Amino acid sequence: MNEIEARLQPSPTLAAAEMVRELQSDGKPVFRFDIGEPDFDTPQHVKDAALEAIRSGYTHYTSAKGLPELRAAIANNYVAKGVPVKPENVAVFPGSKFALYAVLSLLTDPGDEVMIQDPSWPSYASMITFLHGLPIFVPAPLEQHFVPTIHSFQERVTDRTKAVIINSPGNPTGAVYPRCLMSELRELCEQRRPVLISDEIYSALVYNGQAPSPLEDPESDGVIVASGFSKEFAMTGWRLGYTVASRRVTDLLVRFMENTATCPTSFVQKAAVAALTGPRDWFTEMLAEYRTRREAMIEGLSKITGWQCGMPEGAFYCFPRTNFKDTRLLEKMLLEKRRVSVVAGAYFGPSGEKHVRLSYTTSRKNIRDGIELIRQYVEHCCD
Ligand code: PMP
Repeated sequence: MNEIEARLQPSPTLAAAEMVRELQSDGKPVFRFDIGEPDFDTPQHVKDAALEAIRSGYTHYTSAKGLPELRAAIANNYVAKGVPVKPENVAVFPGSKFALYAVLSLLTDPGDEVMIQDPSWPSYASMITFLHGLPIFVPAPLEQHFVPTIHSFQERVTDRTKAVIINSPGNPTGAVYPRCLMSELRELCEQRRPVLISDEIYSALVYNGQAPSPLEDPESDGVIVASGFSKEFAMTGWRLGYTVASRRVTDLLVRFMENTATCPTSFVQKAAVAALTGPRDWFTEMLAEYRTRREAMIEGLSKITGWQCGMPEGAFYCFPRTNFKDTRLLEKMLLEKRRVSVVAGAYFGPSGEKHVRLSYTTSRKNIRDGIELIRQYVEHCCD
């Protein structure tokens, strides 16, 4: 048990949320910048589709492959972006986190190395460690606008490297990889064998242009995309994600589903078809609101003496560098003394040490007032 406990650590982002819930039980408000989920409601037409599916009795298992019309709708989405994805290239999962876990389970043998960007979403390192693999951090500090260089990947590839995980736009930084880096990474992985896993969960949340994907040939075994409905469609609680990969890899992932979760919830899959094929005007509004909040947050953070923050290009996070060495302590003190909840950057990898992650999935007023409380704490009292 001790060994398992060491390999399976609690999720720091979920732990922060848990602490806030406890604090909120006294009824007083907390300024929440810790949450990695949209505060927008799931669109009505998506909810209606789920309700209709339930009413019409669509409440049993589906094929482990997922609903044919869902796989087709996901594939069409890629075809619209110029990538010739077929329904057979798509596997569906209860959340993209589970999709990533399925992919990593297939690829990682004990002692294998998996490269991840640093800073990055803590679940990558946790899953790799749980599978007896070794996370290899590829630095992407603030000075590089949180984008790693191809050189830093090249110099870390070994014969044990099984996969490289990238996440653009990324959690916790919002950084978007340029197209040339995607091509260079694809080339590196083709030459040296590791599989390139592209976590594209935030790909729709980009404020200027588009986030390039490394996926060009869906029949290549070298690139696997993982994505889902949580962020783009404000559907975190519905638990639906997917992979896009070669048929060969997809068949293996479907086998993994057959032997673990069986299938994602049937009526949720119906709702996801409505999400992909329904109106998009609500999304344009949501993205515009995120853009405004992003600017409000950056403006507030820029007033904090000793803190530095670039303009994130996507997702819904800011990741300022603070003037604190121990941001775990800062996280604790801000919560206890000012009732402001952030996540310590140290949880996202060594390059995140002096940073904190703030999510702008909250109102503009909360952003203005909450960041001002942080400023006052940092500059004036620290008591
Ligand atoms: N990837 C990244 C980078 C994330 O931030 C998250 C959620 N915080 C996920 C994957 C998982 O999303 P879900 O399981 O809700 O699809």
